[in-house]
Amino acid sequence: MDNRISGHTGLLALIGSPVGHSGSPAMYNYSFARLGLDYVYVAFDIKEDQTKDAIAAMKTFKMRGMNVTMPCKTAACQYMDRLSPAAQIIGAVNTIVNDDGVLTGHMTDGEGFVRNLSDHGVDVKGKKITIAGGGGAATAIQVQCALDGAASICIFNRKDAFWGRTLETAEKIRRAVPECQVEVYDIADTEKMTEEIRSSQIFVNATVVGMKPMDGETVVKDTKAFYPGLVVADVVYNPEETRLLREAKEAGCVCIGGKGMLLWQGVAAFKLYTGLDMPVQEVKERFFS
Ligand code: NAD
Repeated sequence: MDNRISGHTGLLALIGSPVGHSGSPAMYNYSFARLGLDYVYVAFDIKEDQTKDAIAAMKTFKMRGMNVTMPCKTAACQYMDRLSPAAQIIGAVNTIVNDDGVLTGHMTDGEGFVRNLSDHGVDVKGKKITIAGGGGAATAIQVQCALDGAASICIFNRKDAFWGRTLETAEKIRRAVPECQVEVYDIADTEKMTEEIRSSQIFVNATVVGMKPMDGETVVKDTKAFYPGLVVADVVYNPEETRLLREAKEAGCVCIGGKGMLLWQGVAAFKLYTGLDMPVQEVKERFFS
């Protein structure tokens, strides 16, 4: 690292809070070194009310890019000069590219999800997809699946603080991608959820259920929803095998964990920053196996 950093080295960073546990600095710095790119990537602990200052500093320091995590993703949107189609619909950004002072906000979480599915041989085009969740990850996935040609998206969420946002996302998708059919239901209606999952080709958990401290729980209350060949994807990556995936596997489903989504959203951001492909296979083996 000492030999690598000079007066010319460009800066990129992750902002959000907390960020200390993030694997992004290791993944990006390895890739920069591997491709001989004169950049360094660090993480800054930034609270939501500091988002504006952090983005202004990005211009001051002529930083090439920033990844944005919770709780800054929505706040960051208003300080962008341009937005990608997905970021525009979602109203949040996780990747900012600085082109000579012009900031473009992207949302690569949904793209990461779809590319992780492709990496497992699953295409969302023309599929019926049932998705549990209405928060940040769920919204990004729902919008990207619609943009990438899903035939219909059936959303289940709790009638909690995210319910209004879930209905709004459905409305935004209907306006932006009218050929994709979108419905929203209460996740408490187990019978409806079982019926909708059984008639889908892909089911996704994009809630916090399954993640610690809810690691013994699952959003699928009736395992009759599962059938052999159904694709079941979880955005939760810690633990790697959630109760949802364990029960789905026992029922003969094709199971996909959340770790790959993290990798592929990073791959997409790396391309936006550098125009180059991250050495995916090496990064996968070093940091994701
Ligand atoms: P969020 O806080 O924005 O949304 C939380 C969601 O969970 C909401 O839909 C909420 O209604 C739902 N929820 C909360 N408690 C529930 C319960 N008891 N039963 C049913 N639903 C419940 O969170 P987020 O940022 O969208 O993150 C969701 C999950 O996605 C987290 O586990 C996060 O680690 C994961 N995630 C993974 C990746 C990845 O790359 N794999 C990326 C982003 C987020």
